[in-house]
Amino acid sequence: MTDLRTAEAATLLPTDTPGVVLYSGGFERLIADLRLGIEALGADEPFERLAIPPVISRALVERAGYAKAFPHLLGTVHSFTGTPAEWRELSGTPDWHREQRIGDLVLLPAACYPVYATLEGRELTGPARFAVSAHCFRQEGSAEPGRLRSFRMSEYVTAGTQAHCEDWRAAWLARVAEWLGAMDLKVSVEVADDPFFGRARKVFQAAQRAQELKYELRVEVADGLVQAIASANCHKDTFGTVFEFTADGEPGHTACAAFGLERIALALIHAHGPYPADWPQPVREVLTGAVAAGALR
Ligand code: AMP
Ligand code: ZN
Repeated sequence: MTDLRTAEAATLLPTDTPGVVLYSGGFERLIADLRLGIEALGADEPFERLAIPPVISRALVERAGYAKAFPHLLGTVHSFTGTPAEWRELSGTPDWHREQRIGDLVLLPAACYPVYATLEGRELTGPARFAVSAHCFRQEGSAEPGRLRSFRMSEYVTAGTQAHCEDWRAAWLARVAEWLGAMDLKVSVEVADDPFFGRARKVFQAAQRAQELKYELRVEVADGLVQAIASANCHKDTFGTVFEFTADGEPGHTACAAFGLERIALALIHAHGPYPADWPQPVREVLTGAVAAGALR
């Protein structure tokens, strides 16, 4: 029989594959609590909730520029395209995948990508707002705690004018930093490089840093290991231009606030121990959104 105490623990179980883990029941309860807390953070904004599958159109990801910017991270979906005779020849041999070809789907790299395409052709007269959550995949080159290939991401996304997106991102950056801080996490907010906008990478990275398009909220998730557990991003009019939507007559701007659920959970476990039921009551209340982070000031 499983010891009750063990069953409560929020833990990750390794598999035979780096970057793919299993989650204990206690870990899943923590993820469910985190979802409540994230929902409460966005409760005063009229977000349209969209459930997102873990695959996305390859054409869309190509149009959005992800395949070009992050070819090393993108997971593609290949399947058999040969004839029944070829299958009979290959089936059961080590070479069974020889006729696999890239298809029309790829694995979803971030929860917000499908949103921008829903705005195609729209003429926004006020901000659009979405709340999304998805299993994401990135073909990470190294394995360390918190660097997963399959992980969960929740995001708030907005589209509108440049002024709206810049103000919204600043407000969300502050809100998420305050929420994490109120759970006694030591957060450093840093401008990050994101080669998304870089063609000639070095030059654009410097320009991008000057524009501060991507902020990461970094926290220790294991001894000596600090990782981004959330980010707040402005994409300028990149998606408005690609998907041809406007805001007040100009190409639409977009911004998103992204939460890495496993990494936030790991940071909390690292700070407070593997038994969430034993964490300090104020931390639990902020975690689940029962008490607003700002109320603790
Ligand atoms: P990004 O789009 O890179 O800003 O990612 C949003 C959030 O997803 C990050 O702040 C992380 O919390 C989380 N994330 C990104 N990559 C991984 C990964 N390989 N494993 C676990 N979480 C990740
Ligand atoms: Zn996003």
